[in-house]
Amino acid sequence: PARPIFADQLPKGLQTISNIVAVSSCKGGVGKSTVAVNLAYTLAGMGARVGIFDADVYGPSLPTMVSPENRMLEMNSETKTIIPTEYLGVKLVSFGFAGQGRAIMRGPMVSGVINQLLTTAEWGELDYLVIDMPPGTGDIQLTLCQVVPLTAAVIVTTPQKLAFIDVAKGVRMFSKLKVPCVAVVENMCHFDADGKRYYPFGRGSGHEVVQQFGIPHLFDLPIRPTLSASGDSGMPEVVADPQGEVSKTFQNLGVCV
Ligand code: ADP
Repeated sequence: PARPIFADQLPKGLQTISNIVAVSSCKGGVGKSTVAVNLAYTLAGMGARVGIFDADVYGPSLPTMVSPENRMLEMNSETKTIIPTEYLGVKLVSFGFAGQGRAIMRGPMVSGVINQLLTTAEWGELDYLVIDMPPGTGDIQLTLCQVVPLTAAVIVTTPQKLAFIDVAKGVRMFSKLKVPCVAVVENMCHFDADGKRYYPFGRGSGHEVVQQFGIPHLFDLPIRPTLSASGDSGMPEVVADPQGEVSKTFQNLGVCV
């Protein structure tokens, strides 16, 4: 697939970004946006200049997950570029900030909207741009991966056996595009109650995946009411509880990307 090789072939808006990390999942609802947002704020907490691009135009999460107030993207009328909104030092672009809500669009139109938002945004100098990918491995995802020179991919899944097949699809897509898949995050692995640890979706398929595909890192995240509450309140968990168990996991993930 044609991926840009030289910096001057890159879309202009992306030329000043050092690392572009895709956070991907094959299904919706597994915690992809939660991981993307917390990874981004972890990297920012480590001192990096960070942006988040919410490419999920069918169900943009960024407007609820980050920042309590309503925000809108502004257009620079001279340069016709989009000015990202900013929250706690992280630059944010989402279709959900364009005031349109959820989209009813066909695939090629979706790809056009994503590419335009992403490449006409004034990202400026960034160490990391974290892309919250649309779920799945179809044309929209492929087109996005071809426009953007991804430096790493993180795949989010849940621990069920069935999810194994989905992760395999994701890994294959990124390996075809020569994007290194640096980590799998198994979300909603366990919860603790009455002094015991429960594994509601079973255990072990994450290890199978990383072994079979040679992925260097596997992380797991617990089911935590605070993770879903922080998603709803607009304050990422890693910002609200920087010393917590979840924040430590994200710091380890941050070092891998
Ligand atoms: P996706 O981006 O894959 O669709 P989200 O990140 O939007 O998934 O998560 C779906 C819902 O589950 C959200 O309401 C989120 O707050 C919640 N959630 C995600 N991960 C966890 C977790 N580990 N514990 C509790 N709630 C979670």
